[in-house]
Amino acid sequence: MKKTRSSRQLPSRYVTAGLAPEVKAVLPSTFPKRVVTIAHHGDVHVVTDAKPKTRAEREQLKDLAEAYLEQAEQVLELDGRRDEPLVLGILTQRGMDGLWGYPVKYTSGACVDANVVALRDSTGGADGEAIIAHELRHTVTFGHQLATGQAMPEYLVEGIAEVTGAGYLDRTNREAEGPIHQKAVSWMVDFTARDAEVVFGHDEPKGERESKRVNGWRRMQIGAQFIEWLRVHLGGAGVPDVVARFDQLEASLSPECSFEQAFAEQLGVPLREAQDAFIVFLEHTRDDAPARFRGTIWEDTWRIVAASK
Ligand SMILES: [Zn+2]
Repeated sequence: MKKTRSSRQLPSRYVTAGLAPEVKAVLPSTFPKRVVTIAHHGDVHVVTDAKPKTRAEREQLKDLAEAYLEQAEQVLELDGRRDEPLVLGILTQRGMDGLWGYPVKYTSGACVDANVVALRDSTGGADGEAIIAHELRHTVTFGHQLATGQAMPEYLVEGIAEVTGAGYLDRTNREAEGPIHQKAVSWMVDFTARDAEVVFGHDEPKGERESKRVNGWRRMQIGAQFIEWLRVHLGGAGVPDVVARFDQLEASLSPECSFEQAFAEQLGVPLREAQDAFIVFLEHTRDDAPARFRGTIWEDTWRIVAASK
């Protein structure tokens, strides 16, 4: 795998030290006890419970720390309400399991709360960086939820995080280095209008088989695809700043302003109307993957996937 970061300098002190008291204060009780700070930039601290033995392990840790700090900067730009340090954990499998209290073999990243995210130390490369971006976007949602006491639907909470993660690979042209990301896109081809209807709650799943089909992963990807459809296609020309609008949407929720109201205000169209048009789009692109992905953050990945078929 090509290494794109090794020649660059870590934009912070690389330290192996204990934890500052303000960092310790925000860590949840399930976080590994023996963590140390390995890098920090302003109020953003990268901590780990890993003990790199070889130079390669240390380099991998530095790369992840650098990716974390870079992306945290972008996320913090969006999120001006933070008054506590942001802690970015790079955890061993054991540390990740401890966060949940049971083994989490397939969970590479986690947003623990508005100030703490964690990534498994073995998740390197472009896929790892996309997961960092995904989880960091969740901290923004967490912050909004704490401030407003409201939440938008789960498929959009996951969708906006996924658009941030996949969008990162698209912006940095690193799709070819992300096998997990490629696999996800190869599965997105078979989403149906029916899947979206169930995810949107327009219809109940027909039995266990369908509700299994529309599992957490599919819910997230349909949410992401809906957001991308809004950006590229809504009203013909699309809404280029859709991600910023979703940020405002989350901030504007209140007991007096429902999600549907906030959506109509930010996107200029009723939610149901946008969802129905997206469902028609899925139907029309059922056998036309290039049209489904054209203009989206998955377009280049789809080309890579299609070429390898
Ligand atoms: Zn997520």
